[in-house]
Amino acid sequence: MEELDKYLKAGEIAAEVREAVPDVVDEGKKLIDICEWVEGRIRSLGGRPAFPCNVSVNEVAAHYTSPPGDEATIPPGAIVKVDLGVHVDGYIADTATTICLDPAKERLARASRAALEAALREMRPGIRISHVSSIIERTIRAYGCKPISNLTGHDLDRYTIHAGTAIPNVSTISLKKLRPGRAYAIEPFVTEPWGDGVVIEAPVSTIFRLVRPTVKGKGKRASELLRAIYNEFKTLPFAERWLWRLLPRSKYEQAWRELLDKGAVMSYPVFIERSRCPVAQFEHTVVVLEDKCIITTLPGGP
Ligand code: MN
Ligand code: MN
Repeated sequence: MEELDKYLKAGEIAAEVREAVPDVVDEGKKLIDICEWVEGRIRSLGGRPAFPCNVSVNEVAAHYTSPPGDEATIPPGAIVKVDLGVHVDGYIADTATTICLDPAKERLARASRAALEAALREMRPGIRISHVSSIIERTIRAYGCKPISNLTGHDLDRYTIHAGTAIPNVSTISLKKLRPGRAYAIEPFVTEPWGDGVVIEAPVSTIFRLVRPTVKGKGKRASELLRAIYNEFKTLPFAERWLWRLLPRSKYEQAWRELLDKGAVMSYPVFIERSRCPVAQFEHTVVVLEDKCIITTLPGGP
């Protein structure tokens, strides 16, 4: 199977799961049940989760997945972002949707969706990333909303979610262009016009990633755990929930701390809007070819 076919397969699965997400998100639903439903559905369709399903509620903008035993539920009137990733042999589809349980927050979701659609309409091989960014910002402002300036889209690589190029949601001065042969995720994050339009790190991390496959002076258990993480997730993000399904927690809890302390594993902090304003997000993945762009995560296929 060619690289493009794998991107398309991942996109098809991601789109199918995302389209069903509104049916599983409602007031009172446990976040962990939403995460596990999404991840299970990805697997049953023949893909693998490229990262833990993110369920980010209200002012939580991104990077929240349920920790083991999470009791959190969807509160009344919430705005809920569900961000999911699928990979096929390391080729990733990254997509997100927003479910609004409060009509007063609907405008944020509409602005994000419109900004994403406007950006996608303009995407061509070779256009400047700054052009995409200014369309996103302009569309969000036209809805009377504010973009989150420090959360961006990004390029993707095999087994790598953030491959180094950012696609900002606000105008920037940059000469970087969309390169053929690359995949990009576009994800406008939107908040209220009176919000700060900036996210800060919460003192909580629920998503992790291997950074160094070898660590000096680690114990036997830590080596075993490290090897299991590499074999199972490579350099893709994972949830603690996934780890303890793989290995007995009681046996590896201390090794897990050791890997975190020694920097073999990094954690992604949860991002929250600084002024605690609600946030909306939609996201699609695009593969750039020599002559055109293909949106891999459209409902019903590209
Ligand atoms: Mn995403
Ligand atoms: Mn993304």
